[in-house]
Amino acid sequence: MKKRTLIFVAIALGAFGLAVSQSIPKIDWPVHDPARPAPPVVDPGPSCPPAAVPADAVVLFDGKSLAGWEDAKGAPAKWTVANGYMEVAAKAGSIQTKRGFGDCQLHVEWASPAEVKGEDQGRGNSGVFLMNLYEVQVLDSWNNKTYADGSAAAIYGQYPPLVNACRKPGEWQAYDIVFHRPRFGKDGTLLAPARMTVFHNGILVHDNDVLTGPTAHKARPPYAAHADKLPLGLQDHGNPVRYRNIWIRELS
Ligand code: MG
Repeated sequence: MKKRTLIFVAIALGAFGLAVSQSIPKIDWPVHDPARPAPPVVDPGPSCPPAAVPADAVVLFDGKSLAGWEDAKGAPAKWTVANGYMEVAAKAGSIQTKRGFGDCQLHVEWASPAEVKGEDQGRGNSGVFLMNLYEVQVLDSWNNKTYADGSAAAIYGQYPPLVNACRKPGEWQAYDIVFHRPRFGKDGTLLAPARMTVFHNGILVHDNDVLTGPTAHKARPPYAAHADKLPLGLQDHGNPVRYRNIWIRELS
């Protein structure tokens, strides 16, 4: 091939690769389809003590203070804090960090109530919301049937986890999340969708999944342009779920 032809082919391949890497996948299953197969159960082993905090991490919750958190209206977060963890308090509402974050590595430890109450989505439900828009589901998925894209560690309404790595109710569990925020052009058009890799109790449950847009109940809404940094949210879904040892590493 002539040099000029080679350059043209290289550019064409590059553009094609870009287009492919930035396209939004079509999910074969309707949102919350009960026929979608439940993820296979994998025992992750016993609970661990709180994970060590890397030196360059921003500690979002150290087990003692909610100083870095507020409710959706900007008022002080009213979840209870005791014994090294915070717990969703009745009617306190969801909470969010005062600081905003974009691309990040996030570590979150959580425990669903030891006393099992409710079933399906009503059992140990909460959620970790990247940028307050993209939920990694928190749910007691230990012997608890629900729709696959709403089980523990699901990217809610879009992707079930590769496996169900849930520990028993009351036992501490961990999410380690690598999140790349969506990119928008100056005119608000989507340049690149959000991506997530997630480990549940050390087991890979999402391998660079491409999100279809913000997560939602019974819907898969399209992307809408937003800021490069937004708060991290924790959901009040009416169940006394606990959290401890939350830290984040911003990725440049
Ligand atoms: Mg939830």
